[in-house]
Amino acid sequence: MTSRKTQDVYMVIGGNGFLGRHIVQQLQERGDIVSAFDIVARYDDVPFYPGDITDQSSVESAIRRSGTTCIIHTASPHASLNKPDVFHKVNVEGTRTIIAAAVATGVRKLVFTSSAGVVFNGTDNIDIDERVPIPEVPMDAYNDTKAKAEALVLEANGKGGLLTVALRPAGIFGPGDRQAMTGFYQVYEGGKTHFQVGDNTNMFDWTYVGNVAYAHLLAADKLDTPPPAPPISSLEKEPLSFDD
Ligand code: NAD
Repeated sequence: MTSRKTQDVYMVIGGNGFLGRHIVQQLQERGDIVSAFDIVARYDDVPFYPGDITDQSSVESAIRRSGTTCIIHTASPHASLNKPDVFHKVNVEGTRTIIAAAVATGVRKLVFTSSAGVVFNGTDNIDIDERVPIPEVPMDAYNDTKAKAEALVLEANGKGGLLTVALRPAGIFGPGDRQAMTGFYQVYEGGKTHFQVGDNTNMFDWTYVGNVAYAHLLAADKLDTPPPAPPISSLEKEPLSFDD
């Protein structure tokens, strides 16, 4: 991992969760200033702002008190929660609130954790990239609301000078996980291991949590890094035109 310390002051929203905690730790390790905003209290080694992302005044107050210039927004209810109204409130309205708070306080950057599930329509997704459209019929309320939140974040790019980006991890595993391993263990404990879906050729992407966290740091860093200048040789081949 890079040891580059940046000029930004970071707030990880959902910073007491599985992924959020790894992002907090990596920022700490490279010497950046970081705080956590979360509805649940868990750690006390960085400044912690308790609050709900659907409450704009809490988010704004935390941003102002911490001097945040870059928000990394990882908060979401668990995908397994079967409550569409909660998904809508937290993922869609909560993300809208974070954007409004960021613009009102002059935050420079917003990195949003979306999900690979936003483009899953129940059929195999092989060799695809970010150009694949969001399915007209979403898989479920979780993925529907993650897709809507992602659209809000990307539409907000440039608003009041805010720079935004969204990442779409697939399954995340590693230390601190409270979803995947718990689910696998419940299947094992319940003696449900003798069922098989498909013919044993099904594939699913999993990424180590440290790598997903690092991708968030890189995304934040790259948001305001200008792209490298093209090589001189390519300029010689395609001279600049001043006609238009
Ligand atoms: P997690 O539940 O461990 O972390 C989410 C955190 O958000 C929790 O600490 C929770 O308290 C907080 N939170 C929830 N609602 C909140 C609210 N209203 N206000 C403030 N804080 C709130 O989940 P995770 O696995 O770390 O997931 C992080 C992000 O990654 C989520 O956005 C999720 O959609 C996305 N994601 C996760 C996976 C995965 O396999 N875990 C895969 C793809 C995408």
